[in-house]
Amino acid sequence: MNTQVVYEPARQVPVYGSWDVVVIGGGIAGVAAALAAARAGASVCLVEKENALGGLATLGNVLVYLPLCDGRGKQVAAGLAAELMRISLRYSAAQLPECWQPDGNIAERSKQRLRVSFNPAAYMISLEELVLAAGVQLMYDTRCCAVQVENNRISAIFVENKSGRGAIVPQVVIDASGDADVCYLAGAATVSLHTNRRSGWYLSHQENGVRINMLSDPLPAGSGGAPTFAGDDWQDVTRMNIAGRQMIKEHLMQHAAPSGFANAYPVAMPVIPLFRMTRRLQADFELDESDDHRWFDDTVGMIGDWRKAGPIFCIPYRTLRTKQVGNLLAAGRCISVTESAWEITRVIPACAVTGQAAGTAAVQALKSGGRVDALDVKELQNTLCAQGVIIKRELIM
Ligand SMILES: Cc1cc2nc3c(=O)[nH]c(=O)nc-3n(C[C@H](O)[C@H](O)[C@H](O)COP(=O)(O)OP(=O)(O)OC[C@H]3O[C@@H](n4cnc5c(N)ncnc54)[C@H](O)[C@@H]3O)c2cc1C
Repeated sequence: MNTQVVYEPARQVPVYGSWDVVVIGGGIAGVAAALAAARAGASVCLVEKENALGGLATLGNVLVYLPLCDGRGKQVAAGLAAELMRISLRYSAAQLPECWQPDGNIAERSKQRLRVSFNPAAYMISLEELVLAAGVQLMYDTRCCAVQVENNRISAIFVENKSGRGAIVPQVVIDASGDADVCYLAGAATVSLHTNRRSGWYLSHQENGVRINMLSDPLPAGSGGAPTFAGDDWQDVTRMNIAGRQMIKEHLMQHAAPSGFANAYPVAMPVIPLFRMTRRLQADFELDESDDHRWFDDTVGMIGDWRKAGPIFCIPYRTLRTKQVGNLLAAGRCISVTESAWEITRVIPACAVTGQAAGTAAVQALKSGGRVDALDVKELQNTLCAQGVIIKRELIM
């Protein structure tokens, strides 16, 4: 390991702006958080290091919006999670499963889950339209690279983009980076997982149209000597990108090269690394897989388990916040959960649920100077329910 260091001289940087709510990361969680906050009347800046919205869902070609239901016919996730599912189909011929349409056959809902496949390119357009219509200030090509913490709150976020290095002044910050970058930079406790598998989801043209190729090394991660990745340092991110493309090349050589690439060729590669679980917040409480059907008084949304029918998880507000930083919330795949629950909360519908909860909580926290620990959880639940979010104890009785 290289232990050499150099000192970067202190310097003044311009302030790019001040917003009530600053969301770092424009994946599904960040979009939901920004929409919820902006629609509630806050000024919102959404900072995204890439040049489009959707994160893994669009830039990573993860084009399956996993279920909003419990697999036994009950819808458990709604609100923005349902709106973002509908919007994923806006510029495509695909539709929600027939039985889940308003006049659909309710009995069929226990046999067919409420999930869809979408076109990632079309979804980029509809997500951006939605966010702009809500009045969110988008800041693309901009990476959060440091934060200033004073008196237990983030007073400035340092970013870098085409204009150089600058600062953003937030009231409340939402970490929707997927990798808990802001939590980590702010000194909050985080946990990293070193079990990401080499993956390469890509679209190819075949004789009968475009198809998705969902390539991942087998489970358990690392079996048969397959490499694993953490994704919380530059070397690992670089290795994962190269390994993913190598995997796609091997697949192409097997399936497309024999025809001379005439009838089969790649059309869309992932442009961000396909990490499932990297780094997450470690708050006082971590949701666990054993919390299936467990009610929490601070529930801010509900989700099913995409892997099997039956489980319902209530997401407590305390998985989104840390006592270590008073104006910071986490959303999406970096909330505070155990390794077993991470597999459940990292997927698209759950990210939308936690994003909406974080965005709504952030606006409510503005009344107490941005302190996310000082808000009335009952009021937050009432606001979320009025937005269509499902928070119903009777669903797990
Ligand atoms: C191979 C694979 C297959 C999957 N399959 C499915 C599936 O079939 N269905 C499903 O529902 N889910 C699936 N998932 C999971 C799901 O896609 C993601 O977990 C989910 O989309 C995460 O959303 P997010 O908003 O929390 O994070 P992300 O999508 O990771 O978004 C985070 C955003 O933050 C940006 N960002 C990161 N750091 C910074 C920074 N410092 N400054 C500024 N911007 C930053 C990133 O560019 C990105 O746009 C899969 C994941 C993988 C890897």
